[in-house]
Amino acid sequence: MFEANLRLSSVLGLLTVVVVISLLLDYCRLLRRPARIGLWLAILCIMAGLGLTLQAVLPGNHFYGPVFIEAATQEKIVALTFDDGPYPPYTQQVLNVLKENGVPATFFVVGKNVERYPELVKRIVEEGHQLGNHTYSHPDLLKLDRGQIAAEVDKTQRLLFEITGRVPDIMRPPHGFRDAVVMEVMAERNLKVVEWSVMCRDWVNPGVETITRRVVSKVKSGSIILLHDGDGVDSTASRAQTVEATRRIIHELKSQDYRFVTVDEILKTTAKEGTAL
Ligand SMILES: [Zn+2]
Repeated sequence: MFEANLRLSSVLGLLTVVVVISLLLDYCRLLRRPARIGLWLAILCIMAGLGLTLQAVLPGNHFYGPVFIEAATQEKIVALTFDDGPYPPYTQQVLNVLKENGVPATFFVVGKNVERYPELVKRIVEEGHQLGNHTYSHPDLLKLDRGQIAAEVDKTQRLLFEITGRVPDIMRPPHGFRDAVVMEVMAERNLKVVEWSVMCRDWVNPGVETITRRVVSKVKSGSIILLHDGDGVDSTASRAQTVEATRRIIHELKSQDYRFVTVDEILKTTAKEGTAL
């Protein structure tokens, strides 16, 4: 059976070699008849490399496997997702805002932070939110081999099982980066890969107003919104803007009759309605 062992980095390396050789041949006036085959081959390889890279880094591309970014539904539902935590005091503050407004959310947690703050993981679950796996140390999975990718995911699954008694069935690769091997490792574990359809770059702290406006202007029925209660494994940046923006986003979207659901419900809607991923 064919096994997708080829990493994006290997393919890009191979394409680079072909580009260099093709351009060299063209420069030496070889491979120029009947057309400039060397030059065209180089252009083709560059385009292929660009295409393969975009498929790996942009959410919503399915070349390497199914990635969920939203539900194509008419129902006015949206899912808030928070990445990189738990990270005190911001995770508690986000949880407080969610509780005050009776809103469920989904937290893609980093294993190292789970180890540091297991009581926050417990609180997330006790208050009815969903957990997702965001790897153990938040690496770029495109740079790891198959065994390392598996270890990153498995370690966090084990930790979450020890704390909550269950394992998540969803994961989000750090930065959203994935290739065929990443997707295969997740499929072997029945982990659905969930990314997002609304991004507001809250991690650079652009201001509460900006975060709120970016989210509210892009949201539509079935959106999955990406926010950050944490800051990778470094946990140095403030997430105060995200906390306040979350409060405003909830108020604004509620006034527009949106209902907040977990990613699980978004996925169920997607399956029920037989819509695109
Ligand atoms: Zn992250």
